[in-house]
Amino acid sequence: MAYLTIKNVKKVYPNGFCAVKDFNLEVDAHDFVVILGPSGCGKSTMLRMISGLEAITEGEMILDEKKINNLSPKDRDIAMVFQNYALYGHMSVYDNIGFSLMVRKKKQRFIHERVMNASKIVEINEEQLKRKPGQLSGGQRQRVALGRTIAREAKLFLMDEPLSNLDAKLRGDMRVEIIELWRKYNQTVIYVSHDQVEAMTMATKIVLMNEGVIEQVGSPNFVYNHPETLFAATFLGTPQINLIPGSLEDGCFKNEMFSIDFPEYKGINVEQVLLGIRSENIFVVDKDEDFILQMDYVEYLGSKSILHGLLGETQIAVNTKEDVANLTNCKVKLNKTKAILFDVQTSKAIRGDQNAERS
Ligand code: ATP
Repeated sequence: MAYLTIKNVKKVYPNGFCAVKDFNLEVDAHDFVVILGPSGCGKSTMLRMISGLEAITEGEMILDEKKINNLSPKDRDIAMVFQNYALYGHMSVYDNIGFSLMVRKKKQRFIHERVMNASKIVEINEEQLKRKPGQLSGGQRQRVALGRTIAREAKLFLMDEPLSNLDAKLRGDMRVEIIELWRKYNQTVIYVSHDQVEAMTMATKIVLMNEGVIEQVGSPNFVYNHPETLFAATFLGTPQINLIPGSLEDGCFKNEMFSIDFPEYKGINVEQVLLGIRSENIFVVDKDEDFILQMDYVEYLGSKSILHGLLGETQIAVNTKEDVANLTNCKVKLNKTKAILFDVQTSKAIRGDQNAERS
């Protein structure tokens, strides 16, 4: 049995709005799960239901073999970092960080060690530890909230966009710290974010949500390379995946420019499809038989460039290390083994014969 099982969970708010529809997830012990999705898709609602701060309308949650649906938040043994910090204004920063350990009547020396260790990680100094949260900046308060969670022990750690108020440098540093802590203490974490970079760099498992439903669950690598829906394909990846319109005729993708055979789709016909191909799977080449990209503009990023241009009538992006300065057009080749075909009507990836190999 999974460490945390979430079965058929639904949330309807009192005003009748259904924020989460039939959510199913299994989290293994020591997983680092990132719930990823655009603003308003139901990520925080889901996290708050796991913590017990929000009641679930339907479904069941089992943590470490114990049904937790009807337990109050304090009886769930779950730690949570909120986006809005939720610090106690009348207590010092030190006491805020050590609070949950004090409540659990841990020894003074143990509390001191944990508080000092946590505050070092989140870069809160001894002078700041003596202040009240109101005397800190927004970013510092967010670090205190993170420190408070780092200091405590719990069965499950929930984090709701804990880095959103930090500047880019500190956000990068804290990402590394959180991952190192997670590795060191073998914790189980569920982390909410709308930032694909956070999800790709931190998660062992991404849960991609859209409008209250799960679009796809899988490792960052799997969801990136095998998106099951157009939403998943376009939400992950910068620049966004290229989508080339056409039709599928007996396994052959066709449009005014291309005719590409896909053995695994043999026998399948779909009137409107999109061929999805990421920018790193299109190469600049110098052979005659390849396609011409009419260049629009080039983004120089130091170690590589992103070419933007028209392939037939489709605007596409190509990731390259070639020197393309001063070109008005160039020849490109598609790595068809990495292409994914989507049915426009269902917005889903077309499933073919898994055993057929592309050459
Ligand atoms: P964000 O990334 O912006 O924080 P989110 O994915 O975490 O968004 P939620 O906060 O879970 O989204 O909200 C999901 C949906 O539920 C939103 O449309 C929101 O307006 C709605 N919602 C949230 N709280 C309530 C409430 N108390 N009553 C009614 N609707 C609510």
